[in-house]
Parts: sequence; structure tokens; C-alpha cells
Amino acid sequence: MAKTINGREIADEFCAHIKERTAEIKERGIEPHIALINAGEDPASEIYISKKEKLATSVGISSTVYKFNNYVKENEISDLINKLNNDKKVHAILLQSPLPKSFQFRKLINLIHPDKDVDGLTTLNQGRLFSGEPGVAPCTPSGVLHLLRTVHDNIAGLHAVVLGRSSIVGRPLAQLLLNSNCTVTLLHSYSKDLPAICRTADILVSAIGKPLFIGKEFIKPGATVIDVGVNKIEKNGSKKIVGDVKFDEVAEIAAAITPVPHGVGPMTVAYLMHNTLNLACCY
Ligand code: NAP
Repeated sequence: MAKTINGREIADEFCAHIKERTAEIKERGIEPHIALINAGEDPASEIYISKKEKLATSVGISSTVYKFNNYVKENEISDLINKLNNDKKVHAILLQSPLPKSFQFRKLINLIHPDKDVDGLTTLNQGRLFSGEPGVAPCTPSGVLHLLRTVHDNIAGLHAVVLGRSSIVGRPLAQLLLNSNCTVTLLHSYSKDLPAICRTADILVSAIGKPLFIGKEFIKPGATVIDVGVNKIEKNGSKKIVGDVKFDEVAEIAAAITPVPHGVGPMTVAYLMHNTLNLACCY
């Protein structure tokens, strides 16, 4: 039976360390501050923003939430980003996705000053990651790497297969794994024979957002499986959050596996705080 990688506990431990670092930085007269922008009334975003706000408070980082209703105009968000870029008290800016459908995500992200780009999503920070230069790495992929390091002393030379190639998760994660000297395969919706490729993975990360898509036929015995997916399903008339992976059957074959919830999610929020501190120190 696989070891369950408890992201909740690992994130709590990491946050205790972040709290200590925050206190040290404050002693130097710096007050780390993150701006959280929530454009629209997506219910899941409201929950994520509230979690981020609470964690910031608990580690001693100050935060401001900028909340807009569904009638918000794109230029209101761009004006706000420009204002926050010029506010010396703000070290980190997060633009919560999804944005309203008509908004141009890349355009808005690229308005964020790269030195305040807490989720490492601007084209400049993504380019730095891809060319191996120092920069801000996106939170979820950083959290995944952190979890992997709790079960592997060294991931160099391992075959890592990443399912999903979004600019938020799959692509930057593939790059982080490559930078850690893994052999990396990146799969997407046009890839053929997914189970056969996945069965060659020492590390399998799923970030496709398809509920319970990954069964035991995708798993090499002894593999480490990280489930990034967060999917809402209805079961027996009630709503339930599940990952991309069929936890129970995959846990019978894998060596280590993350659950959903309490896997990658808490690490994403923890890395938001970690990145905020780094930006506050450098700014
Ligand atoms: P996304 O932008 O929708 O990207 C999904 C990716 O999966 C795309 O690259 C797509 O391929 C690929 N894909 C979809 N169906 C596939 C299939 N049947 N076979 C192979 N590849 C397939 O999603 P995202 O923003 O990366 O998020 C992915 C999941 O992670 C979602 O469930 C999201 O909620 C979750 N998430 C969790 C956290 C966390 O902190 N736990 C953070 C971010 C996201 P194409 O490119 O070919 O379309």
C-alpha cells in the first residue's frame, strides 16, 4: 500500500518556517504585503481567496483583497494592477483565475511588474524559468516539487511524466522537473496511448482536471503519484471534490501518492506566502 503524502501536514510545517522568516524580515523594517485580486464572482475563487487571506494573516504577512462583481470591466483591473505596481507597500500581486470569459488573461498577467509577480506567470518570469535563470517559480508546480522531495532524496535521472500542459501548472512543472535533472515527458489531450506512456513514469503528475481519470492501468509499480486535479462531482445527490486519480486502486500499486483534498492544494497557498517573502526581500 502506498504512503500517503500528507500535503496538509507538510504545508503546516513549511508555513511555520515561513512565519519565522516573516518575523525576521519585519525586524528589518519590511512589512511583506500581498494584493489579492478577485475579478468576478466565481464561487471557488471566493473560497481560494479567503484561504489565501487567512494563511497570510496566520504567518504574519499583510494582505488586501480587491473584490469585483461580475460586471467588472477589464480596464478596471488593468488600472488596479498599474496602481499596485507603483505602490511601494505592495510586494506581491496575485490575479486569481478564472477571470471573466471576455478578459485577456495573458495581457492582464503581463501588466503585473515581474518583481511583484507572485505566481511567476508573466512572460518574463516564465522565460527565466525556461532558460534556467533565477526568478519567481509558479506556486503549484513549486508545491509539487516540494512534495516530491519529501519522498525522494534525489529525483535526478527519474522519468517524470506530467499530464496537462497549461501555463499555470503543466508547462512550468515540466520545466522545474527538467531543471532538477529528471527526464521529462509532457502529455496533453492530443497525446496517444496515455496509459502506456504513464506506465514508464517513476513520477506521475496529473494536472488535467478530469475526475478520476487515472486508474491503475496508468501506474508503474512503485511510482510516486501526485494528483493536482481538483474536480467537483455529484455523488448520491451531494457534491464532492475529487482529484484526477482513482486514489484507492492507484494506492495499491504506487509507492507514494497525494490525496485530494489535503495534497497539492495546501502547498500552493504556502508557496504563495513563500514567494511573497522572497519578493519583499528583493524589492
Ligand atoms: P487547464 O488549463 O484546463 O489545462 C488542462 C490540461 O490538461 C491541458 O493541457 C489539456 O490538454 C490537458 N488535458 C485535458 N484532458 C486531457 C486528457 N483527456 N488527456 C490528456 N490531457 C488532457 O487546467 P489547469 O489550470 O492546468 O488545471 C488542471 C487541474 O488542476 C484542474 O483540476 C485544476 O482545478 C487543478 N489545479 C489545482 C491546483 C491546486 O493547487 N491543487 C492549482 C491549479 C490547478 P490541451 O492543452 O491539449 O487542451
